[in-house]
Amino acid sequence: MYKTHSCGEIRSAHIGQTVTLAGWVHRQRDHGGVTFIDLRDRSGLVQIVANPAAPNLEMIQNVRSEWVLQVTGEVRRRPAGAENPNLPTGEIEVDVKVCEVLNPAKPLPFMISKDEDTEESVRLKYRYLDLRRERMQRNLKLRHKVIKFMRDYLDEHGFIEVETPILFKTTPEGARDYLVPSRVHPGCFYALPQSPQQLKQLLQVAGTERYFQIARCFRDEDLRGDRQPEFTQLDLEMSFVHRDDVLALVEGLFTAMIPAVTPHKRLLSSPWPMLTYTEAVDRFGSDKPDMRFGMELVNVGDIFAASDFMVFQATLKAGGVIKCLVVPGCAAYTRKEVDDLTTFAKEQGAKGLATLALTAEGVKGTAQKFVRPEEVAALQQRTGAKEGDLILFVADQRAVANKTLGQLRLLFRDRLNLADKDLMAFAWVVDFPMFEWNEEDKKWDAAHHPFTMPKMEDLPKFDTNPAEVLSDAYDMVCNGYEMASGSIRIHRRDIQFKIFQLLGIQEADIQAKFGHLLEAFEYGAPPHGGMAPGIDRLVMLLADEPNIREVIAFPKNQAARDLMADAPSTATDKQLRELHIKVDMPQE
Ligand code: ASP
Repeated sequence: MYKTHSCGEIRSAHIGQTVTLAGWVHRQRDHGGVTFIDLRDRSGLVQIVANPAAPNLEMIQNVRSEWVLQVTGEVRRRPAGAENPNLPTGEIEVDVKVCEVLNPAKPLPFMISKDEDTEESVRLKYRYLDLRRERMQRNLKLRHKVIKFMRDYLDEHGFIEVETPILFKTTPEGARDYLVPSRVHPGCFYALPQSPQQLKQLLQVAGTERYFQIARCFRDEDLRGDRQPEFTQLDLEMSFVHRDDVLALVEGLFTAMIPAVTPHKRLLSSPWPMLTYTEAVDRFGSDKPDMRFGMELVNVGDIFAASDFMVFQATLKAGGVIKCLVVPGCAAYTRKEVDDLTTFAKEQGAKGLATLALTAEGVKGTAQKFVRPEEVAALQQRTGAKEGDLILFVADQRAVANKTLGQLRLLFRDRLNLADKDLMAFAWVVDFPMFEWNEEDKKWDAAHHPFTMPKMEDLPKFDTNPAEVLSDAYDMVCNGYEMASGSIRIHRRDIQFKIFQLLGIQEADIQAKFGHLLEAFEYGAPPHGGMAPGIDRLVMLLADEPNIREVIAFPKNQAARDLMADAPSTATDKQLRELHIKVDMPQE
């Protein structure tokens, strides 16, 4: 071994011992002929001291940041006044006897020892250097802890981990597939799984009963927001379960895991609240509500049933709703601030925004002229609004009003600092619609995925009113993020076939794409269900990071490129010939 101890583990108990350490030069400085080096390995830092009398002083004086050294020396107490209480090794230093350079380093593109604002593209190009930084080391360790906890917990609960293929066939989750050409079957392609969905269901047909996998998923999506072309899920599936069995298992896992891996985080409630999809959208304007704070949307249509306000009247007549949000302490907002909110509301799709400010001098705001005192009183009664508050109204179609006020709610969460980052507000959202209308293709899409079981009592509505069919799908949400989706699955061939048909898949295609699954269902498929919490987003939240790239060792950038290895890149003519592929470049 190159070392007898790790840099970060040396304490005053080691005083007098000779130790050999190996690591990177974190910092180097000279002080009146004495050279100090902070030597770093993954356990931390320790101070190395070379006196003017040190045998290879000149060499030590010439080392630079990030050189790799092996140092042998004696541990001694730091002189009085020179201790560093901020460092676990701050009481001691190592008086160097032998120092060897294991490898020098070029000047670096950015400092490892300082958490400076380096451009992300530079960090990603030199990811192996970026990962040396304390913050990234911390994130990698946390990720490891989370995954280890999951594995151990599920093992204790009778699950077995099964690896499923990466080279497979289309497994739709609403994105495009990544295709891999086959050399030995010209013109044929594997698809990388968008999730192991079908495979884990087939494992239930295979009698596994409790399966999990730390699974890589591949989805070729236009990279909106915080997405990666490949990402990791804790994929799990169980046989002979109802919805609540799956939820209890996952809730138990997360409730035990959070304090174990991040003791400073608190769960808002235990057991977790459960909302229906409709309730979540009505109360919070989102199917992934941030429940760390209140500020719920309130329906006030009835209060304004006889309103003189034209906009309110017209909306109610057209079957729309009037909903509002009470923003605490913002009654003094200026005209400009209110205009900005209106612009924001319009960007969310609303026609406009009406406001009432409850000031000490009376009611103000854009709706003030049109509201009667008794309406204001009723409003205050219903919403709890008090002097100093600003009330925001959206009168529109229900979906638009919910979405707009939901987004305003999040805007004020951030602006007024309403949500504690160390609070984890987990909740279940259940009873999702089974289908979503795809306006572009004029057809129904599966709201979750096509393997989700519809509510049995809704089966008769299949042909008459697909929009009203609910499914046995559920989401786990936390702090405004969707953390996991899952469902009870279809295990009957006839229902699965019908769903594929409803989704507009031609019979020949159903057979070609999913024939294996349909056939499997005819050989004694047990009732089953499961879900798949996303690991990247979870670790991101636990690490207080702003995006998932910070918790993935080698992420792609937002244009789906690996900047370090420069992937994707072109293939050689020979490779293409072997794959029977001709590239037809787009005309610029
Ligand atoms: N396969 C689903 C997904 O990737 C999760 C599940 O239904 O278990 O979202």
